[in-house]
Amino acid sequence: MPNIPNQFSEVTMEFAPGVNKEVSQNMLTALNETISKNAVAGQTIEKLWVSSAKDSHSCPSRHVSGLAVDISRVNGKKIGEHYVSDAAIRAIVDGLQAKFEMASNRRENFGPTIKKKLGQNHDVSGHVDHFHWSVNGDHSACSDVAETYRLEEEDNPQTVSQR
Ligand SMILES: [Zn+2]
Repeated sequence: MPNIPNQFSEVTMEFAPGVNKEVSQNMLTALNETISKNAVAGQTIEKLWVSSAKDSHSCPSRHVSGLAVDISRVNGKKIGEHYVSDAAIRAIVDGLQAKFEMASNRRENFGPTIKKKLGQNHDVSGHVDHFHWSVNGDHSACSDVAETYRLEEEDNPQTVSQR
């Protein structure tokens, strides 16, 4: 599996301590299609903070398979502290979530702006302090437990909120 690079099209990617940067090629492609300095009209994205990739989660989360990424800071600011009060941060988060909906193989797109799975509104708690993106791909690592969970592949980020 490739690693998330330190940069996407002039946007610096930062990583919380302990993040396992491995992601599937589908995830890498979707990130490449979504993240760029001018991805959101009228805004400049300098850096994004990855709070979790292939770490910190258990099945049935798609993080376990390298199929999901959480981002909790934009331009050095925590989404949880700035989304409501900072118009620029809100615009960037809103714009990135909208753009991810058009990315190849996009699956889950949970955040402060929208919560969608495969393009449909999806009822899931949390995700006010970060956005979670996942893609389609080999998730057989969780096949034993996925069907026992009502919410199936839902993100379960118990440990990432403070990152
Ligand atoms: Zn997540």
